[in-house]
This record gives sequence, structure tokens and C-alpha cells, in this order.
Amino acid sequence: MATIQQTQTARPHQEATEAIRRAWIQGLRAHGRRVTKQRLAVLSAIHRAPHSTADAIVASVRKELPTITMQSVYVVLADLTSIDMLRKFEPPGTPALYETRTGDNHHHAFCIRCLRVEDVDCAVGEAPCLIPSEHHGMTFISADVLYRGICADCQQEIDREMAAQSTILS
Ligand SMILES: [Zn+2]
Ligand SMILES: [Zn+2]
Repeated sequence: MATIQQTQTARPHQEATEAIRRAWIQGLRAHGRRVTKQRLAVLSAIHRAPHSTADAIVASVRKELPTITMQSVYVVLADLTSIDMLRKFEPPGTPALYETRTGDNHHHAFCIRCLRVEDVDCAVGEAPCLIPSEHHGMTFISADVLYRGICADCQQEIDREMAAQSTILS
């Protein structure tokens, strides 16, 4: 599963601004967590590369904190996900991906060919944004929407391959 590490969004990879770092610090304190450089390094790494796998996050955090163990990063990921400072999602057939964009109920578009992931804003802005045809007596918290498809780059490649093949055959 080497390709998944190249998963990225079209958004430029930016360093967190001071305002974002301040919000993280406030969020950690609000949840009774100590503000540690490990936690901030994990948040920064994911902010720079949204929809990263845990392995990619470990590699990125180690540029800042070379001695951090894989286990420590995994513990931070699980903890920050549990307090909604990170969002974890699992497209079919890939490892879990993490992002710092939480609480806006956004959805994901997923290319089944190259496994690229893009954010899709929620049309309604809050969960659950889909009205189910049947609720079975449950109160719904969220609706997970995954748009599966072929991205524009892959479609171009497919078209090129098809064109090349038809030349050989004719
Ligand atoms: Zn693709
Ligand atoms: Zn996302």
C-alpha cells in the first residue's frame, strides 16, 4: 500500500498560522490535556498534509522530534481523535487517514484508481445532512458520505491509454 502515502489534496500544504496554533492550545486545555510538543507536532504534521496515514504522520513528526516512537504518535492520534481535535476516516481498502479539519461535517471524494482524497463541503453544513428514508426509531448523529470516482488526472491517463491502444489495433 505504498501509493496511499502520496495521497494529498489540491490545497497547498501550509504551516499552521499562529491563530491556528493558539486554537489548538485552547482546544487541548479545554479537554484537560497538557500542551506538549508531541501533540502540537502531530497536529502541525496533519495540518500540513491533510488526509495522512499514521505512518506518514510518524515520518513527518520525526523531522521535528527525531526520537518520538511510533507508539507515542499512535497514542496521540487516538486521543486527539477521541476529543474531536482530529478526524479519522477510512476509505475502503486503505489505512485510516487523519485530518485537522473537524466539526464541519465535510465529506470526501475518493479516487478508486490512485486513492487520492479531496474534501467536499457539506451542502447543509451540519450533521446529519441527509434525510434518511427510514429512521428505525434512531436519532441520527451523522451521515458518512463518500463520493467514489475517478479523478481528472486518472481519467486523462485512462483516455491516453485508450487512445494508444486504438492506434496499435488499427
Ligand atoms: Zn486518481
Ligand atoms: Zn477531509
